[in-house]
Amino acid sequence: MVENCLFCKIIAGVIPSKKAYEDEKILAFYDIAPQAPVHILVIPKTHIACVDEINEANADIVAYIFTKIPAIAKAAGITNGYRVISNCGADACQSVPHLHFHILGGGELSDKMA
Ligand code: AMP
Repeated sequence: MVENCLFCKIIAGVIPSKKAYEDEKILAFYDIAPQAPVHILVIPKTHIACVDEINEANADIVAYIFTKIPAIAKAAGITNGYRVISNCGADACQSVPHLHFHILGGGELSDKMA
């Protein structure tokens, strides 16, 4: 757990969240300010700051997250497609420096990504 990391605090239960899925490696929870009818964040329980910090030593958790995303989306009621986004750094407006993947779905999304 990294001190002062919002998502590490959510993992620890210090800050509450509405959980969508949890196991020993990852947590999925509903975004507090949804930007789609269904908006879920999927995070590794190990602290990785952003995509820039993915490397050969920690890439397994990223692959693991992607094996879980389809079932997380389906269990949340997404039936007709979804978007997965990870913002990295200032220009991408990353606001929480703990790697997370946004699952956006539950309705037709914009055809623009930026
Ligand atoms: P990003 O801007 O890509 O770093 O995404 C961070 C996301 O975390 C934003 O979509 C926020 O709405 C979301 N968020 C911030 N605080 C919380 C919280 N306490 N519970 C759930 N989602 C949060």
